[in-house]
Amino acid sequence: MYDVTEVRKDFPILSREVHGSTLVYLDNGASAQKPKVVIDTVTRVYGDEYANVHRGLHYLSNLTTEHYETVRGVVARFLGAGSEREIVFTSGTTEGINLVAYAWAAPRMGPGDEIVLSIAEHHANIVPWHFLRERQGVKLVWVETEPDGSLDAEKVLAAITPRTRLVAVTHVSNVLGTVVDVTRITEGAHAAGVPVLVDGSQGAVHMPVNVAEIGCDFYPITGHKLYGPSGSGAIYIKAERMAEMRPFMGGGDMIREVTREAVSYADPPMKFEAGTPGIVQTIGFGAALDYLMALGMDNVAAHEARLAAYARERFKALNWLNIQGDAPGKAAIFSMTIEGGGHAHDISTILDQKGIAVRAGHHCAHPLMQHLGLTATARASFGLYNTEAEVDRLVDGLELAHRLLG
Ligand code: PLP
Repeated sequence: MYDVTEVRKDFPILSREVHGSTLVYLDNGASAQKPKVVIDTVTRVYGDEYANVHRGLHYLSNLTTEHYETVRGVVARFLGAGSEREIVFTSGTTEGINLVAYAWAAPRMGPGDEIVLSIAEHHANIVPWHFLRERQGVKLVWVETEPDGSLDAEKVLAAITPRTRLVAVTHVSNVLGTVVDVTRITEGAHAAGVPVLVDGSQGAVHMPVNVAEIGCDFYPITGHKLYGPSGSGAIYIKAERMAEMRPFMGGGDMIREVTREAVSYADPPMKFEAGTPGIVQTIGFGAALDYLMALGMDNVAAHEARLAAYARERFKALNWLNIQGDAPGKAAIFSMTIEGGGHAHDISTILDQKGIAVRAGHHCAHPLMQHLGLTATARASFGLYNTEAEVDRLVDGLELAHRLLG
């Protein structure tokens, strides 16, 4: 366990004021704040060592390339991947899932083939599959969440048919906080010969992840939620799947040779990284992951579990507050509505006036919101630096919102 007071000193933004109050940042599910080591790394690279990667033979290009490529190993270690060759850099989860859709799924799926999804997916893990439905006649098969917000792994497996070509599920719901048993889903899907994509956008943030233990085929993560720069990210792709993939984007860096008549490609993972990448973002992402590993993801998980338990206890007394999802072991993500009144946007605006940042809206999860019969919630999502005192500030803010709106 770490000392959260000390950890907070690593995040300069946390000491600023918003509308006259010290910031309480509870919008980590949308994007997390950055520790000084990430800010310093980005400044250092731009100020002292920047050049393009993989191209030049000059000193700065070699230095930047070395720092950039080092991150591949850092991501592999963070995710428990067997080899850094199974890591493709992306701009975030959205690009990672689109890469799988275009490079792996599209060439091997036709009319009537099926993709199994949970109703709790973020649009990033829905829309690329809708493209395949629209363009290639692929059928999307939906598995609903239980009344407590959990996702029954056995129901996901029961949705698999001889036409299923992929199961794509989130590790942790960005709305409900539900932790999905992706290891069981992967084991069962593989027994039926079906590969599995696990959307790690929220999962990798809240708990230690080991893709080798999960066994999944694809595990995309997004840097800005992992306390790194926006525009950074990576996807773990099992070597056998990577060997099956055709290139997605074409351009510099991903080729071996180009002639007038033909093109040959670089070996994976470079084959899937066309053009000048997010060089500085990726190096900053590496610094963020090093920071998290030094802190210990098990410590982060334990800290957040304690916070979540405290928040649940405080919320219990607010009998007009509805929290979506109460699955055992859920992550510290609370989507809320106030009984008898108050649009999520109004709740969020009142909280903002007290310096408390939460997200209001549909959280890029329309099918789940429809399933829950809601149009919007106010979502408080906790991170590694939040405190019990901040839970108290949130509760005070919610009580004010209830008085004004309820
Ligand atoms: N998947 C989940 C579960 C998310 O919460 C998010 C972001 O909110 C995404 C995917 C998309 O991540 P990004 O916008 O960084 O690509």
